[in-house]
Amino acid sequence: MVAEDVATGRFGRPVTTRFPPEPNGFPHIGHVKSICLNFGLAREFGGRVHLRFDDTNPLTEDMKYVEAMKADVRWLGFEWDAELYASDYFERLYEFAELLVTKGKAYVDSQNEEQIREGRGTVTTPGTDSPFRNRSVEENLDLLRRMKAGEFPDGSHVLRAKIDMAHPNMIMRDPLLLRIRHAEHYRRGTEWCLYPLYDFAHGLSDAIEGITRSLCTLEFKDSRDIYDWLVREVGFEQNPPTQIEFARLELDYTVLSKRKLLRLVNEGHVSGWDDPRMPTIAGIRRRGVTPEALRNFADAIGVARKPARTELATFEHYVRDDLNMRVPRVMGVLDPLKVVLTNYPEGQVEELEAPSYPHDVPLEGSRLVPFSRELWIERDDFMEDPPKKFFRLAPGREVRLRYAYFITCQEVVKDESGRVIELRCTYDPATRGGDAPDGRKVQGTIHWVSAARALDAEVRLYDRLFSQPDPDDVPEGQDFTAALNPQSLVVVKGAKVEPSVASDPPGTRYQFERTGYFVSDTVDSKPGAPVFNRTVTLRDTWAK
Ligand code: ATP
Ligand code: MG
Ligand code: MG
Repeated sequence: MVAEDVATGRFGRPVTTRFPPEPNGFPHIGHVKSICLNFGLAREFGGRVHLRFDDTNPLTEDMKYVEAMKADVRWLGFEWDAELYASDYFERLYEFAELLVTKGKAYVDSQNEEQIREGRGTVTTPGTDSPFRNRSVEENLDLLRRMKAGEFPDGSHVLRAKIDMAHPNMIMRDPLLLRIRHAEHYRRGTEWCLYPLYDFAHGLSDAIEGITRSLCTLEFKDSRDIYDWLVREVGFEQNPPTQIEFARLELDYTVLSKRKLLRLVNEGHVSGWDDPRMPTIAGIRRRGVTPEALRNFADAIGVARKPARTELATFEHYVRDDLNMRVPRVMGVLDPLKVVLTNYPEGQVEELEAPSYPHDVPLEGSRLVPFSRELWIERDDFMEDPPKKFFRLAPGREVRLRYAYFITCQEVVKDESGRVIELRCTYDPATRGGDAPDGRKVQGTIHWVSAARALDAEVRLYDRLFSQPDPDDVPEGQDFTAALNPQSLVVVKGAKVEPSVASDPPGTRYQFERTGYFVSDTVDSKPGAPVFNRTVTLRDTWAK
């Protein structure tokens, strides 16, 4: 559609899009879809994109949300051509209001909220005219000026467009344009008390800025009539912007409404807007996802008009796909079980070279991994009485320690309760590097960490924030918080990680071999006490 606009010269100006967030919460992955669309179109067609804060509600907005939005758009890899605020248009919008009143296209209604709602009628019945609908232009102008001057309390009067109280589109039944709010606005303070409603501000802001296509989510479909009406009545005749709708992103196992996300934060269900379980850009970033993965995801899901839910597995696929090609491999043991190599010299530590990337990743690099008499392996890589298909360590069985040696389990040590606390094994010095000169094969290869040199770490295993695809689909009388997944965070305190990661800065991403993708936490990691967040498992395992 935009390509066609450009080909036909429909707007007579470069493609100009806008991304119009309300600064009332942190941006989330739904915004990513809109950002990629609006910034992507401007980039693709050599046009302009405006970052416009749609800040017309003094009660909920805050500068910290403006700052978060700017930081997150930049982190995603986009830059805007202009930073604009709807709150800078209050004067312009007020002039438009006077113009509409003068033209007999708007009036001051002094009914209360409930009377106005009742007068609207229903989808099947027409509305009724307000008793104030036929006020003279002079009376309307006088009241409007006094509303602006702050003479009246909240709710005493509103400005309404004068259109048609029987219009089949309910929104066109004399929509509200301005209302009185004596409140402190985060940018305008208390100097202004006449606030535009969404429909009044949005289309006219687009028109003021010379936007070409105004890309909205589907819930604004019915607003298109008032958008066109206002732009026309106010006098934007030269190829005014037009609105077109697309389906918002709905992602399984999460909620994408700032109001609900704010509740999760305020009620302490998460640690904050940047909790790694949150679908906010800040949370997703702290979880270890890259901007490229987010952009690839947005490209892949595309833009359509039909509402649809997107599977979380689709998002995770793009996250793995991206991390696989960029992050170094290291070894980390989450649930450590001690292995003692009885024939390895006491006190000796050797350094084994291990590649940081597998053969199919075109990146170079390796690290040295210390090896010693005492090691940690993953507890579930050992079974005392293994079933047929278990190829890892068991009594009498030989396995390969990745990048190191073959070891054979000779003895199982237990505590009084019968819990396995140590394995006594022998290693074969001839298998250094992982192959036996005599051609002998082993079926299992497991990861490990030298006990002498291990780094102690806290590992946070994140899972889906909600336990059902649509968190709003709960029984009557409950809300989405009833669907929270109690297992969405499992904290592992005594994990052991190879020492090569010790000097990496917080925010470094890795694959812990055989375990998953992890990132060192940028908030809670301390020198000598790293915290790792699991970004995503290696495979989609949740359903099993
Ligand atoms: P919320 O319910 O989270 O407050 P919103 O639409 O009111 O959503 P805004 O900050 O006003 O949030 O949205 C800014 C832009 O981002 C709008 O153009 C909106 O259409 C778009 N947007 C918001 N949520 C989504 C989503 N889930 N998918 C696609 N676009 C979205
Ligand atoms: Mg909005
Ligand atoms: Mg909103």
